[in-house]
Amino acid sequence: MNATNTPSHQQPEWRDTVTLNSVLKDLSVATPLVFAAECDRLRGHLGEVARGNAFLLQGGDCAETFAGVTADSIRAKLETLLQMALVLTYAAAMPVVKVGRMAGQYAKPRSSPVESRDGVTLPAYRGDAVNGAGFTAAARTPDPERLRTMYEKSAVTLNLVRAFAEGGGADLRQAHAWNQGFVRMSPSGFRYEVLAREIDRALSFMDVCGVDAREMHRTEIFTSHEGLLLDYEAALTRPDPPTGRTYATSGHLLWLGERTRQLDGPHLEFFSRIANPVAVKLGPSATPDEVIGYAEALDPDREPGRLTFVVRMGASRVRDLLPALVEKTLAEGLEVGWVCDPMHGNTFTAPDGYKTRTLDTVFDEVCGFFEVHRSLGTHPGGIHVELTGDDVTECVGADVAVDQLVERYETACDPRLNRSQSLSLAFLVAEMFRGSVSDQRGGA
Ligand code: PEP
Ligand code: MN
Repeated sequence: MNATNTPSHQQPEWRDTVTLNSVLKDLSVATPLVFAAECDRLRGHLGEVARGNAFLLQGGDCAETFAGVTADSIRAKLETLLQMALVLTYAAAMPVVKVGRMAGQYAKPRSSPVESRDGVTLPAYRGDAVNGAGFTAAARTPDPERLRTMYEKSAVTLNLVRAFAEGGGADLRQAHAWNQGFVRMSPSGFRYEVLAREIDRALSFMDVCGVDAREMHRTEIFTSHEGLLLDYEAALTRPDPPTGRTYATSGHLLWLGERTRQLDGPHLEFFSRIANPVAVKLGPSATPDEVIGYAEALDPDREPGRLTFVVRMGASRVRDLLPALVEKTLAEGLEVGWVCDPMHGNTFTAPDGYKTRTLDTVFDEVCGFFEVHRSLGTHPGGIHVELTGDDVTECVGADVAVDQLVERYETACDPRLNRSQSLSLAFLVAEMFRGSVSDQRGGA
C-alpha cells in the first residue's frame, strides 16, 4: 500500500519522490529506535490500566520541533511528567505508567491542507517531519529529507529519555530537584514541596529499615506519537523473529488520530499489522459501533493493554457522549483502557488570535470523565495531555490571563500547559481519586 498521494488521509504531497524513496530505503535498514520487548512490557503495563490496577500519564508537546531537541527542554518535560506522576502515584496508590508524547511526535494532521494569510495561500504546516512553519513557499514545500531528521532527532531524544530515566535523574531522592525555577514559586509548586517532604521522610524511614528498592532509583519512561506518516512508519516496521510478530520501531505506543481513524482507512489497516500497544482517539462523532470495530480490527485476540481509547469529547459533551461508548464495551466484555484527553475538545481562539484552552475547561472535562466512570463502575485509566516543562503562556488559568498569552506563546501547533498548570492538573486528578472534588460539587 502506498498512501503517499492520498491527501484525504493526511499524507503530505511529496513532490520529490526520488529523494523520498531514497530516504525511505535508508530508514528501512536503520537501527530500530525501540525494541519489541520494551513494547511488550508497555503492553503489559497498559493491561494493568485496562484491568483497573494502574493509571496512564501520557504527555508532551502537541508538535515536537527539531529546534526543541535540547537537553534543557527535554529534561524540563521529563521532570514535569515525573512531578505529575509522583502526585498521582501518591494519591491513587497505584502505579503510574509514564509515556511521553515524545521522540517522534513531529507530524500533524491539519483540518485544511492550505493556509491563507493576506491573500497568499500556501500548503499548511504539517509538522517538522514534513515542512517548515515559516510562511514562505520554500519553507512550506514538503521535504522528504525531514523524515531522516525526524528519525535522528527521535534517536537523540530517546537517548536523553533513557539516560534520565535510568541514570539517576528519576531517582525519587531527586523529587525536590524536579521542582526548581518558576514552578517552585507557584501555588502548585508549594503544594508539591509539601508532598516531596513527606516522601523524603518515608524514604529516610525505609533507609533506617534497610529497604533500598531498585524502583526508587530509576523509572521507565516510554515514548509515543501519532502514527500519521505511513511511509515513515512502514519503513521503520520490523519483524521480531523470536515472537514472529511485527513491530513499529519508531516509538513504543502509536495512536490513531481523530482525523485518520476511519474503519476502512489505511491507518487502521497499518495499525492492525503491528504488535505495539496502540491507542485510538475518540472525538464527539465516535459511535459505539465504531468502538467495537476498532476492537475487532486492532485487538482480535483480546489482549488487555493492546488497545487504549483516548477520549477527547470536550468538557460540555463528555458526560453525555462517553457513557454509551463505555457501556458498549462492557456489553461486549472487552477489556480496554480508557484515557481522558482534556485538551483537544476544548480549544478556542482568543480575541487577539491565539489558539488557547482554559484550565477550567480542561479540569471540567477530566471531572466529567471521572464522573462517567464512577457512575458505570469502570476505571478512569489515565490522562493524555499537551504540556511542556517551560514557563510558556499558551493556556489560560493559574497565573496566565488571556491578555498574557502574547508574553510567551511558543507552541508549533496546539497550546500546551506549562509546568505549574500541569502540576495543578495532577493535583486535581489526585483529588478526583480521593473523591473530594465530586463531593464538593455535590457528588456524581
Ligand atoms: C493531537 O493529539 O495533537 C491531535 C491532533 O489530536 P486529535 O487527533 O485528537 O485531534
Ligand atoms: Mn494537539
